[in-house]
Amino acid sequence: MPELPENEAQRLTLERECLNRTVVKAERGDNIAHIDLPGGNQLARFEGHRFTETRRHGKNIFLGSKSGPWITVHLGMSGWLTPYDAPEREPDHTKFRIVFEGDRRLAFRCPRKLGHVRVVEDPDEYIAAHKLGPDALAIDRETFTAFIGGSKAAIKSALTDQNRIAGIGNLWSDEILFQTGLDPARKGSDLDSEKLDSLFDTMRLNLSKGVDVEADYARLPKDWLIPNRKDKADCPRKGCGGSLTHRKVGGRTAYFCPVHQS
Ligand SMILES: [Zn+2]
Repeated sequence: MPELPENEAQRLTLERECLNRTVVKAERGDNIAHIDLPGGNQLARFEGHRFTETRRHGKNIFLGSKSGPWITVHLGMSGWLTPYDAPEREPDHTKFRIVFEGDRRLAFRCPRKLGHVRVVEDPDEYIAAHKLGPDALAIDRETFTAFIGGSKAAIKSALTDQNRIAGIGNLWSDEILFQTGLDPARKGSDLDSEKLDSLFDTMRLNLSKGVDVEADYARLPKDWLIPNRKDKADCPRKGCGGSLTHRKVGGRTAYFCPVHQS
C-alpha cells in the first residue's frame, strides 16, 4: 500500500507534468465499481481551469490552485497516477482521467479497492474534517514524543495511526522500528525519552530517504529492512547475525529481527 514516500513521489510527478495546463475535461473512466469518484457536475468545474499547485498530507495528494477547487486523490491499496501523452495508450483500470489541452493526459489507475478521488474546496479544511494528524515529515518532536510516549498501544499501531501521525503504513513502520531496534509490539509508554528521541530521528531520516529515492526501493541502502523484508532472511544490520521473522501486531503483519529489536 502506498505510504508517504510513494505519495510524495506522485505529488512531484503532478508538479512536473500537470501544472499550468488548461483542463479540457475531467471525467470518470470505465468500470468504476468499488471506487469513490466525484459526479459530473463537480468535475465540470475544472473545465478551462489550470492547476497551479500541489500538496500532500500523509497519504493524500492534492492538485489545485489558491482559489480552488482542488482534486484530492487517495491511492488506496495500489492506485497510481500516470501522466501520458496521446496517442499513447491509457493504462488499464483507469478510473478517472484529466484531459489537458494538447496531448497531455492524467490517468488514475486503481485496480483494487479503497482508492478515491474527491473534489474539495480547501485542503486544510479537508485535513481537519478527516481528523488527520500532522504529516509524518512535518510533526514536531514534542508532539511526536508526547503521543508515542503516552500510548498504551503497540508502537507499530501508534506509528500507523493516521489520526495522530499521517503517512506511515505497514512497510515504513517496520523499517523505522527495525532501525531504532524496537520490538513492534512494545508499548510507546514503556520507552524512555532517549528512545523516543531516537525513534523520532529515525522516522525523519527513513522517510526523508524514501522521499529522496522517490520510493524506488532498489535505491535504498542494502542494510535496510525493506530490501530484505522476508521470513528467514539474514538480518541486514551489520554484526547482528539474527534472522528476520514476522508476526501479527494490531492486525497487521510486522517483519522484524528478534535479535536486535527488543
Ligand atoms: Zn538484527
